[in-house]
Amino acid sequence: MFDEIRIEELEVFAKHGVFPEENTLGQKFLVNVCIKTDVSKAAAGDDIHSSVHYGNVCSYISEFMRNNTFKLIETVAERIAMGLLVKYDLIREISVEIKKPWAPIGLPVESVSVMVNRSWHRAFIALGSNMGDKNKYLNDAVSALDKADGCEVKKVSSFIVTKPYGNVEQDDFLNGVLELKTYLRPYELLDLLHEIENAAGRKRVRRWGPRTLDLDILLYDDIRMNEENLTIPHADMKNRDFVLTPLKEIAPYLVL
Ligand code: AMP
Repeated sequence: MFDEIRIEELEVFAKHGVFPEENTLGQKFLVNVCIKTDVSKAAAGDDIHSSVHYGNVCSYISEFMRNNTFKLIETVAERIAMGLLVKYDLIREISVEIKKPWAPIGLPVESVSVMVNRSWHRAFIALGSNMGDKNKYLNDAVSALDKADGCEVKKVSSFIVTKPYGNVEQDDFLNGVLELKTYLRPYELLDLLHEIENAAGRKRVRRWGPRTLDLDILLYDDIRMNEENLTIPHADMKNRDFVLTPLKEIAPYLVL
């Protein structure tokens, strides 16, 4: 349950647009923002430092829009939303609407707009390796995730040695779990995990076969999804000790 800080119709003159004239002449944009946060601490102490200063937010938006040129207001809205989420720890969710009242579409229209919603999520990621320098593969994956845009590693479990799963003759695994704060959506996160696996030289040769690095999404907030390429919570995690033991270590009060 969050409180809201709203900014309505902030006017910015900038040069975003698909048409070249828009990038040279510029036009008026109007920005609406809804910030979800908890203002109780700021209210109790009557202290601006415990809140999100809407004046500073307006300056950030205005400067960003005047100093950059994008073709799409989708891009403008998304970059502002992500920039503000990262800049202000207190913002839990944000929606940013960019309106173009003078959109050059040759038809009478009051305005056109794009609104994006972005928020922080908590995910748990399972890490596994059973080839080469396993400890290094896992540690490198932790730092790659921590460095990735929109991601922050909050906790990392100990790495434990476990016996291989499935019927393939192979080396023991080193397994661990980490907690991630991220604004990436589930499929964006899955793509990032695949990029990090590929950078570690992962080859998808056979199911259950040996691998330099395996990264799986165990949980993502409280969502449940069962799509062709992504199942969350991870299928069968409740039967896998090599996942549950490290998960319990970093999140002992988690209710599955
Ligand atoms: P793996 O062999 O563990 O790397 O998994 C192979 C495929 O499982 C991936 O390419 C995903 O499309 C799919 N998959 C389904 N659910 C998940 C999940 N929760 N986390 C990671 N991969 C998943």
